[in-house]
Amino acid sequence: MKWFRDSLNDQQSIKDTVVQMENWLKDVDKCGLAGKFKAWIYQHGILPRLLWPLLVYSVPSSTVEAMERTINSFLRRWMGVPKSFTSLGLYCTGSKLQIPLRSLTEEYKVTKARKVIMLRDSSDEKVREAGVQVNTGRKWRADKAVEEAEARLRHSDIVGNVAHGRLGFGCVTRSQWSKASAIDRRIQVQEEVLRMEEESRLTRAVTLRKQGKWLNWEGVPQRKLTLNAIWTMESDRLSFLLKSVYDVLPSPTNLVTWGLAEKPDCKLCGRPANLEHVLSSCRTALSDGRYRWRHDREITVTNQRPDIVLWSAASKQVVMVELTVPWEERIEESFERKREKYQALTDTCTEKGWKAWCFRVKVGCRGFPAQSLWRTFSRLGVTGQVRKRAISVVARETESASLWLWRKREEKWIGGHRAVD
Ligand SMILES: [Zn+2]
Repeated sequence: MKWFRDSLNDQQSIKDTVVQMENWLKDVDKCGLAGKFKAWIYQHGILPRLLWPLLVYSVPSSTVEAMERTINSFLRRWMGVPKSFTSLGLYCTGSKLQIPLRSLTEEYKVTKARKVIMLRDSSDEKVREAGVQVNTGRKWRADKAVEEAEARLRHSDIVGNVAHGRLGFGCVTRSQWSKASAIDRRIQVQEEVLRMEEESRLTRAVTLRKQGKWLNWEGVPQRKLTLNAIWTMESDRLSFLLKSVYDVLPSPTNLVTWGLAEKPDCKLCGRPANLEHVLSSCRTALSDGRYRWRHDREITVTNQRPDIVLWSAASKQVVMVELTVPWEERIEESFERKREKYQALTDTCTEKGWKAWCFRVKVGCRGFPAQSLWRTFSRLGVTGQVRKRAISVVARETESASLWLWRKREEKWIGGHRAVD
């Protein structure tokens, strides 16, 4: 319901809403549930309850942004990430790691945009002509956003539909703006407003030197964490995944940056160590066999052996699969190195009259399989749900092996098989 006060403005009601929200968050924070469940309560209990007051009162966008900052500080704690963790990591749908949380600001903008359209295009002449303003403050204007969204939609009619980040890779088709019905247009405008929000988030990501590194992960499809997946994840694994993708783990170089250590030295080899060093390029770790352990563990779990070879003597066909576990930003590089090595081998097979295929599969060490894994599975006839499940197992195993290596970064390596038990 909406309160009409004698002051005839919404200020008190807005203040009450903010206080109400803070109390809800504090109550949830105090309950004894695990953090990820608290995040779920925000998403499904608190967020929907805030949308009504945000719709009916003239709340300026700056107030909503301040509310979102309060929410973020709770969400960071509940998701097990530090205060410095970028809010992009919580809401960005175009990030390499998408988690199913919705931003209050985004919901607010969509709600206000819908209100603008409904007033403007109302079938009731009196409503149309009343000239009701949807007041959202100076920083962001709902009517301007609707105008811009409509212009963009008209424009994309001309240039054709393009792929949209929010809905994953691939082409998303929508009906032509010029031919769409009123209801369809209203939906399209709301989706476009979301897309504009997402674009501005991605623009901000570019300016983040450290926490925006995932923008350079080439050939790595996005990983979407569903609520189901989060449910079954141990809290420390979820927190490790988030912190490793955005590079906010207490690696030796980060500790120096944060003023918590004097030297950024690796405890194993003595060289300066960032997260990449710990997880994929420390020489001592390499000669200890730590990376080898992660690589082999992967293969055992997926019921395959290293350097799988499948062949048919009758039809003279041979398929070889080679796996590497590189740092995500180097996935394309390692591709080139491996290519030469196996080209020679397939050439030899071809010379002897065999049909030979070599698949090079790469899984980023933070649990991000490269596009090549999808292709390899389909070439081997593994498709649909089976492929999807297999890929998520590979991602999970790599990520938890890396978590293990991270935990053992300062300890002597006594072999993964013993340590895992
Ligand atoms: Zn080292």
